[in-house]
Amino acid sequence: MASISRLGHSRALTSSMPRVASVRAIPHTTHLATRTLVTAAAVRGGRRVATSITSKSSSSFRSNAYNKTGLRAFSQSLPGYDAEETAEEEEEDPTKAERFADETDVVIVGGGPSGLSAAIRLKQLANAEGRELRVVLVEKGGEIGAHTLSGAVIEPRALNELIPDWKEKGAPLNTAVVEDDFRILTKNHAIPIPVPLHPPQLHNDGNYIVSLSNYVKWLGEQAEEAGVEVFPGFSASEILYNEDGSVKGIATSDVGLDKNFQPKDNFERGMEFHAKVTLFAEGCHGSLTKKLVRQFDLRADSDPQTYGIGIKEVWKIDPAKAQPGKVIHTVGWPLDNKTYSGAFLYHMGDDMVSLGLVIGLDYENPYLSPYKEFQRYKHHPFIKDILEGGECISYGARALNEGGYQSIPKLYFPGGALIGCTAGFLNLVKIKGTHTAMKSGMLAAESAYKAITSEAFEEGKPVVMEDYEANLKKSWVYEELHTVRNCRPSFHSPLGNLGGIMYSGLETIFLRGRSPWTFHNRKPDHACLVPAKSAKPIDYPKPDGKISFDLLTSVSRTGTNHAENQPVHLRLKDKDVPVQRNLKVYDGPEQRFCPAGVYEFVDDESGPEGAKRLQINSQNCIHCKTCDIKDPSQNIDWTVPEGGGGPSYSFT
Ligand SMILES: Cc1cc2nc3c(=O)[nH]c(=O)nc-3n(C[C@H](O)[C@H](O)[C@H](O)COP(=O)(O)OP(=O)(O)OC[C@H]3O[C@@H](n4cnc5c(N)ncnc54)[C@H](O)[C@@H]3O)c2cc1C
Ligand code: SF4
Repeated sequence: MASISRLGHSRALTSSMPRVASVRAIPHTTHLATRTLVTAAAVRGGRRVATSITSKSSSSFRSNAYNKTGLRAFSQSLPGYDAEETAEEEEEDPTKAERFADETDVVIVGGGPSGLSAAIRLKQLANAEGRELRVVLVEKGGEIGAHTLSGAVIEPRALNELIPDWKEKGAPLNTAVVEDDFRILTKNHAIPIPVPLHPPQLHNDGNYIVSLSNYVKWLGEQAEEAGVEVFPGFSASEILYNEDGSVKGIATSDVGLDKNFQPKDNFERGMEFHAKVTLFAEGCHGSLTKKLVRQFDLRADSDPQTYGIGIKEVWKIDPAKAQPGKVIHTVGWPLDNKTYSGAFLYHMGDDMVSLGLVIGLDYENPYLSPYKEFQRYKHHPFIKDILEGGECISYGARALNEGGYQSIPKLYFPGGALIGCTAGFLNLVKIKGTHTAMKSGMLAAESAYKAITSEAFEEGKPVVMEDYEANLKKSWVYEELHTVRNCRPSFHSPLGNLGGIMYSGLETIFLRGRSPWTFHNRKPDHACLVPAKSAKPIDYPKPDGKISFDLLTSVSRTGTNHAENQPVHLRLKDKDVPVQRNLKVYDGPEQRFCPAGVYEFVDDESGPEGAKRLQINSQNCIHCKTCDIKDPSQNIDWTVPEGGGGPSYSFT
């Protein structure tokens, strides 16, 4: 992200805002990394506003500025601002202090493919017409790409539309797919399926094998170059509403609270971003999106969203085994016929492979551990042969949408819209969602731009982006999701995976989505576990330390870090439920479905002998969102931790 830093730095220094009272933080080291941090507080129309901050760690900036001034950095430039009085109030309870508010045109929550594509498209449109348009993007990762985890084979269709000269601009799409291999795994065999029998969606001609995290970093650079104000290290924790109920923008989380929500020395109040349009691009199962869905009843006419968990590693392998551009997909072993799963192994360049296992979160057996299934998968002779002699360099996990067409919610509400995987545009048969996420971001950007630049636009009247939804329905995104809509639900027949594979072959190769029926996703994933007494415990092999690893070794490969002594961001609605229901009825499935060892049932020394309590090791959390989805009691609420915390993915 060196270039982002450089660009952001120069823009902040040359900001053309009137009456800029700048606060410069000196370079310093944080728990995350060293980064020169520059910002400016400006006054626009009598309001306090922040100009761009491009930082590795916004919290570092905040604390530095706080320490330097004795007051909040942004307080300095407010005209008619009674610093003494405000300081007194803040001393009374700084957590209640008025938040710094920045007025902007569009705010985007999330710096993944969808959010960045929306941001770039908005600035392209504005720049082409020579208009001033402020586009602010906040990202909870310490830098753009740090929280991105994917396969990834990407289809460049949306990129061709967004940045047609991406090759000249150095997009990191360096490994073109040269071969597709699709196999059914039994315990000891890997049966190849001839190419003419592959679903057309698994033909990857013209696609590229990438590290999505690197690709997103490059998109971040393009966004900055186009003039987007990119704020990594900022978690959007709250939706702000106007009096008429429309969305006004978002607030970022307070920084520097201790675990009891008391301010520490480095406490800094969150910021507000007010906008004409707010686009939510939080990725699969967004934490603010959940609230919007409830607030505006966005699922009134759609099926429940259903999910999978994808667990992956990146390996540096023996160069003699590298086959750059080869894409391998497998189904079958190690999961049984009732449990939906699929695996991938992509030969990237530089003797690296990216491999992973996706398991449907509608699995029934509470004893199933997605992490251990993946470790076991690597011991299949076909996979082990590729990995042997190599080294695992990265690990991570993330939930992904499986519901598809039937589960897409209403996409807009007064003041904004949902884009990308937070709405759910992943094409599961392809296991691809990057191109659809990008396209949805671009369409939303076009709709937002049209609305806020039209003559009919009235300040104070919310923008309603109906045409975004209408245009999406006319686009190739809808067409491809419609074609495969029956595939995932077909795995729920009594024939299990076998039935699903056969039906999906029929639907994708012959019917091509023209079947006059639509199967539904009826049951949410959290309702699918059976009680432990009706399930069979699974005896997983011990990791050998060469091909398979224990969980903590894997977590150490995610670079995860959360500031210590901060409020636990995994909130329990009822603290008794984990023991009284989850442990008693399901034998504590959170101990197994979390791919980072966050949940542990330990002895409760304050209780009677043998009593247990749930210990939450929130500092290990890799933000995959599985617990929020799969908890059978729906008692866990995943909220954003302080900005900058979480994994620090590379190569993923
Ligand atoms: C295991 C796996 C394999 C996959 N394989 C492929 C593949 O091969 N090809 C393909 O095309 N797709 C693949 N996908 C899907 C693809 O990764 C997604 O479709 C794509 O990343 C969606 O982009 P997005 O921008 O909607 O969301 P994301 O990429 O998830 O980005 C969302 C961003 O928002 C940030 N964010 C979330 N909430 C907040 C908040 N409140 N405040 C601030 N920031 C926030 C997150 O940190 C993140 O950076 C795969 C996914 C998984 C999990
Ligand atoms: S605590 Fe939840 S979100 Fe965090 S890693 Fe575990 S399952 Fe994923």
